[in-house]
Amino acid sequence: MVLNCRHVWDRISDYIDGSLDPSVRADVEQHLAHCEICSAVLDSTRNIIILMADDRVFELPVDFSQRLHACLDLVLATESPDPV
Ligand SMILES: [Zn+2]
Repeated sequence: MVLNCRHVWDRISDYIDGSLDPSVRADVEQHLAHCEICSAVLDSTRNIIILMADDRVFELPVDFSQRLHACLDLVLATESPDPV
């Protein structure tokens, strides 16, 4: 069976899990071998899974909150009021 990109995307998480039928898996691999789009989708899906599986917490810089609020205040102060 010749798969198109859509078919591959539908199967990509099963592909990563290794739960695809060997014959389907071979079809997916064949498509991935020549399709840059699906290879990129596969790579980014894998990266997301790695990030999610990893319990790392992304810490924001200490003054991030202050800087964000200062920036918002500035925008709000300079923005003209909505016409009524
Ligand atoms: Zn593709």
